[in-house]
Amino acid sequence: MTDSARSKMKVLRGIPASAGVAIGTGYFLNRTMPSSVHSTVPREKVEEEVTAFLRAVSRSRDQISAIREGVKDQSSEHYQILSVHLALLEDSMLVDQTVRLIRENQFKADWAFNKVLQNLLETFHRIEDQYLRERGHDLRQIGHRVLENLAGRAVDSVASIRDPVIVIAHDLSPADTAQILKSPVLGFATDVGSKTSHTAITARSLGIPAVVGLERVTDEHSEHEEVILDGEEGIVILRPTPETVLEYTEKQKLYLHRIRELARFARLPAVTRDGRILRLHANIEFPEEADAALRRGAEGIGLYRTEFLFLNRKDLPSEEEQYQTYRRVAEKFVRRPVTIRTFDLGGDKFASQIDLAEEMNPAMGLRAIRFCLKEKDIFKQQIRAILRASSHGMVRMMFPMISGVAELRSALAVVDEAKAELRKKRVAFNKEIPIGIMVEIPSAAMVADLLAKEADFFSIGTNDLIQYALAIDRVNEHVSYLYEPLHPAILRLIRRIVEGAHDARIPVSMCGEMAGEPFYAIVLLGLGMDELSMNATSIPLVKRILRKSVAYEAKEFVGGLLLHGTAAEIGRILRKKLEDMFPEERF
Ligand code: PEP
Ligand code: MG
Repeated sequence: MTDSARSKMKVLRGIPASAGVAIGTGYFLNRTMPSSVHSTVPREKVEEEVTAFLRAVSRSRDQISAIREGVKDQSSEHYQILSVHLALLEDSMLVDQTVRLIRENQFKADWAFNKVLQNLLETFHRIEDQYLRERGHDLRQIGHRVLENLAGRAVDSVASIRDPVIVIAHDLSPADTAQILKSPVLGFATDVGSKTSHTAITARSLGIPAVVGLERVTDEHSEHEEVILDGEEGIVILRPTPETVLEYTEKQKLYLHRIRELARFARLPAVTRDGRILRLHANIEFPEEADAALRRGAEGIGLYRTEFLFLNRKDLPSEEEQYQTYRRVAEKFVRRPVTIRTFDLGGDKFASQIDLAEEMNPAMGLRAIRFCLKEKDIFKQQIRAILRASSHGMVRMMFPMISGVAELRSALAVVDEAKAELRKKRVAFNKEIPIGIMVEIPSAAMVADLLAKEADFFSIGTNDLIQYALAIDRVNEHVSYLYEPLHPAILRLIRRIVEGAHDARIPVSMCGEMAGEPFYAIVLLGLGMDELSMNATSIPLVKRILRKSVAYEAKEFVGGLLLHGTAAEIGRILRKKLEDMFPEERF
């Protein structure tokens, strides 16, 4: 692109993932393994190639040593990992074999290095010993660093960001976004992703503006340029004019003002004008979010995604660590329920220490409860930790991805074993701990009446329920237009789940992203939900809508909506209704 073309303002439209306006310098975070193609160099250039490679290795070594020097505690895990990385770089196999390939075959350095790396990775993958197998992950990180240094690019991670910047990336994993909690990142924009990918969900939980699914933001952006990110409209503006910056500075102020105004609703109950009370809970990924959830008026935690405790680390969290972490949250929410979901790894969330096979279709693969029932020891360890935490507050346990009664029974059998073990050791726990399930697979929705006889509560996971019922990958931006919470099939499934729960007199919650969208609040009220669990920022807004609504009118209105054939029709009718009912609100 020419300089004059570069200096022109560019507006990119993507998927609004997390509300708020961020204005700042863009920072390109390269998270992809640089690709290499088979290429050779003329004989006289071979030694240059060797030198370039050795320089990249030495630069990588210096960088890692510098990072390690910054780690004070030499016994810490971080220090140990960096030492492993250094040792791998010293490894003669990695370095010598690459040099040999360059010299013997006249390969370009990146191609030669990649070949050696891939061979080694394959060997690591076949190793039985888990510790050694895990070193494959370190090797991949080292490989990335050396290749980036060879290409003359900076190597970085979210954790190393020190300045308030807007992160621009092709994609960010949930592990990357988890690090944002401890960094000064103002917001992020990615080429791929959708509203219900876990990366977007984490951004909303942390209250960081984000736009995903922009397709070309990494191509269009150049380093250190100013960027505006509007997470409500799903817009990213590159190289904004001074007038545009002013306009968005105003918008940012208005947004912050709106959030402050809404805070008044945080403390009020979500009671409709005709006296129906809904309990509004928060979804959290990290215990650190508990205080903000309380401040925003959460009457409990409706979904604690414990799998985030398993990300960004080399070891599995021990039972003791899990117990202490869950206990901390339970103690903060005095006399309020804390729903701890057993870990849901797989899908789009991967932990390096758990060796999940690479699957063609991870969303339908060995994920969540399926993985847990296979790796029963890890599962039982978590269950014991949750049970122990249950003696410190109103802890509820919840299983993800239950597909039917058999799976629920298998999971409950593991709980019984865990309880027996604790009893034997005379460890305290709540014997009456409520145990519920996420209803997020269509088969579970179809047998909701049967499941309701054996579970203490339901929580509807619309993110997955929509994905599986409408057959659309929730992280794929190309099909995100088909992601329709108002699809008649989805509304009918929800109705069926609620009826199944209420016939068996158990409460039903919703913790998918649909629950936190004010646009759907009266639909969910009309469908008879007892609880809604959402990112904490949405709580005051949804409360305000519910407090202005009338439950029996909403029920009648939804009865009418269910007669329509398409999500678009239903959406139009709903919008019109909301504009009439709440002319002062924005939807
Ligand atoms: C869901 O699927 O709606 C849900 C809340 O669970 P997760 O987003 O963690 O899959
Ligand atoms: Mg889910």
